[in-house]
Amino acid sequence: MAMNEIAANMRLQKRLCHNAPFYVLGPIVTDIAPGYDHITSAIGGAIAAANGANFLCYVTPAEHLRLPDTDDVKEGIIAAKIAAHAADISRGIPGARDADNEMSLARHNLDWGKMFELAIDPDKAKRYYDSTPPSERHTCSMCGKMCAVRTTNMILEGKKVTFCSEK
Ligand code: SF4
Repeated sequence: MAMNEIAANMRLQKRLCHNAPFYVLGPIVTDIAPGYDHITSAIGGAIAAANGANFLCYVTPAEHLRLPDTDDVKEGIIAAKIAAHAADISRGIPGARDADNEMSLARHNLDWGKMFELAIDPDKAKRYYDSTPPSERHTCSMCGKMCAVRTTNMILEGKKVTFCSEK
């Protein structure tokens, strides 16, 4: 189902069913991504949930290809959780944004332990971080000493911004 058709369908379904709780599988928003249908369905699921769907059924990367294995199930569930969480935020569900606000603070503080703790998949987040350690303390290896967060913090603290190693 095209992304621009999901909201109208959800509203129609809710109206016809007298606002009964509604669950959706996907919908996948494009059909050319076998191996990635946890993503195509999460996009559709997020839009559906933002427009009234009450329950998302997860789709795994193995959809249309094979019986999913344990890793496929994990990826599918996480993708669906992300979609549901994003929709909760957009619907203004009380408390839905709390973890995101905490994550923003942890990012500002470059507090990696807290970021991993708050991550929806802490093991993957930590594994990625540890797999390519940063050369610059407190940053990550994406930008290293050019870290925008580090630079902003130094400016806010009135420090001179340098791109030399911080001791
Ligand atoms: S190094 Fe770049 S990607 Fe990593 S935390 Fe800093 S700004 Fe973000």
